[in-house]
Amino acid sequence: MNTLFGATTVTAHGHGLTSQRARDRLVATLRAEGIKDARVLDVIRTLPRHLFIDEALAARAYENTALPIGLDQTISQPWVVARMTELLLEPGVPQRVLEIGTGSGYQAAVLSELVGTVYTVERIEELLRKARRLFRSMKIENIRSRHDDGNIGWRDEAPFDAIVLTAAGESVPRALFEQLAEGGVLVAPLGPPGTQRLTRFRRAGDDWQREEFEGVSFVPLLGGLG
Ligand code: SAH
Repeated sequence: MNTLFGATTVTAHGHGLTSQRARDRLVATLRAEGIKDARVLDVIRTLPRHLFIDEALAARAYENTALPIGLDQTISQPWVVARMTELLLEPGVPQRVLEIGTGSGYQAAVLSELVGTVYTVERIEELLRKARRLFRSMKIENIRSRHDDGNIGWRDEAPFDAIVLTAAGESVPRALFEQLAEGGVLVAPLGPPGTQRLTRFRRAGDDWQREEFEGVSFVPLLGGLG
């Protein structure tokens, strides 16, 4: 865990649309839209989301909306990041978390403040390189990342206490279930485009408890490398 962002990147007198005031407003919106976990809201309040998107869009960084990050991909909507993180933490704080779909790196950075170590896999090398640069410049030291097809997980680092998919498929790739520790939790947007739902699985031996939550809209989980 680290707590560096707030102190190093938010000035007491910040103004404009990337200011602390804009972040506070975003947190108020998330709370009004049902996010309850104070730990998650605190991270979103301090983490500079504008660094994860193009400068041209920075003024919109604290709107509750997904934004393009190039290569046909998006940084997820803050509400979605908050909700997935909340669903992941609810059963207990996981030590080792696998994320499929690094994208901008924002979800991984949010998790890095709350869990032990984040392992994140991205199929598009250019996005991964950018995210890595950002993690370094923000001095985040508990994120490991890998350029690979996330459908096969990260075998050498398994098992994970929690797995989060930030791209949507009709079902969860088998390898990911296999890499989840006993008692572990997996959160994913599942279903065909237009009817995806946040879905949470909990592993109990060979049994999987499945719960469905809100409807969402994610980019697709693709196969192979980008
Ligand atoms: N977590 C990201 C969301 C990015 S959008 C963020 O906070 O910004 C989803 C990402 O999943 C995209 O970057 C896309 O390239 C990636 N992706 C899609 N299919 C994948 C796969 N099979 N393996 C790894 N990454 C994948």
